[in-house]
Amino acid sequence: MSPEMVVQNLPNLQVSASADFDSSEFDRYVMSTYARFPIALERGDGCKVWDTQGNEYLDFVAGIATCTLGHAHPALVETVSQQIQKLHHVSNLYYVPEQGKLAQWLVEHSCADRAFFCNSGAEANEGAIKLARKYAHTVLNVAEPIILTAKASFHGRTLATITATGQPKYQKNFDPLMPGFEYIPYNDIEAVEIAIAALDNGKRRVVAIMLEALQGEGGVRPGELDYFLRVRQLCDEKGILLILDEVQVGVGRTGKFWGYENLGIEPDIFTSAKGLAGGIPIGAMMCKAFCDVFSPGDHASTFGGNPFACAAALAVCQTLETEHLLHNVQERGEQLRKGLRAIASAFPQVVKEVRGWGLINGLELQPEVSLTSADVVKAAIAEGVLLVPAGPKVVRFVPPLIVSPAEVETAIAAVKKAIAQFHP
Ligand SMILES: *Cc1c(COP(=O)(O)O)cnc(C)c1O
Repeated sequence: MSPEMVVQNLPNLQVSASADFDSSEFDRYVMSTYARFPIALERGDGCKVWDTQGNEYLDFVAGIATCTLGHAHPALVETVSQQIQKLHHVSNLYYVPEQGKLAQWLVEHSCADRAFFCNSGAEANEGAIKLARKYAHTVLNVAEPIILTAKASFHGRTLATITATGQPKYQKNFDPLMPGFEYIPYNDIEAVEIAIAALDNGKRRVVAIMLEALQGEGGVRPGELDYFLRVRQLCDEKGILLILDEVQVGVGRTGKFWGYENLGIEPDIFTSAKGLAGGIPIGAMMCKAFCDVFSPGDHASTFGGNPFACAAALAVCQTLETEHLLHNVQERGEQLRKGLRAIASAFPQVVKEVRGWGLINGLELQPEVSLTSADVVKAAIAEGVLLVPAGPKVVRFVPPLIVSPAEVETAIAAVKKAIAQFHP
């Protein structure tokens, strides 16, 4: 979709040229990999952002579940300001104290024993895939390792991670894809059992299962407790690694520090990125000691784990604790779901369901109505609230974890107005 088309489809949004921002200039120089909403954001504070024309928006996108502490949080501002003056980047050829401190913090606050740092979610998942393959070859002696992933999953945009992603729309025109991946429906334990048995021919077998604790991009679909307990059991019985992609749900988003804590299980390997440094690029791949089979030279990253990003992540993690934000996430999440469910009850012809954990929630539209999630998002922008689709029928709510009760009410009111507008 071109930006022009987006503008034409907007129900109420008036887009006028700004004195200092010209989107046609932008589009001349920047590749058009995104269908952008026609606002240019230039400033933020807490859960609010302002566009180049001075319009204020309540930000329930947070850079897609990334700005954990919102915008311009004093703890993050102070830490990165100090760190850039002290030392921002060296190389992993040397010890980086901030990286060690962050790894220690993450290990002490998770089921993992060790961490590897990179720069994004896709890269963290690449690391997890490489670790699982090396484990398969060197420990399990499997010549052709298979990794099972779920349909409707999302794991990133590199070649290995679009292959892992169980959605053909992300793979189209980028084949040949990576060998060694097979897909199973999410929350379906029988399908896992069948796949493990069917794919075992002695040389070739399932060595890892990679899942999201809650599918984010795939439509905000929480994992089921029974399913994950059985997957964990199966992995233990068969010597299969359980990899959880915590890129979207980790670091407090669900009201627990990690998404897997909602499921009563522990993964062998998990990945983190989006919210980890509150918007400073970072990725982490964490694992238990028994499957840490990397040795020097196996894997690397120039930027990964630099002092700047690690100091930022440490500040975010420590602030989650000092400001008791997990408690806020649980309370604001309840408040938001209650408000959205009231809208669903008022407009049952339009809204099918509201679901989520903590501050990652989705409002699913009825399949019969022509209304799409993008329509609702555009109408909400006109009401001064930023939201993000998770697929064509689900509107996603992922505000900063510092969001206030009043801000949650504002978002609910805007969604109500947006939905009421489309009510048949
Ligand atoms: C966003 C996301 C990714 C990809 O992260 P990038 O930083 O964009 O590479 C991977 N997995 C999940 C679950 C995500 O939500």
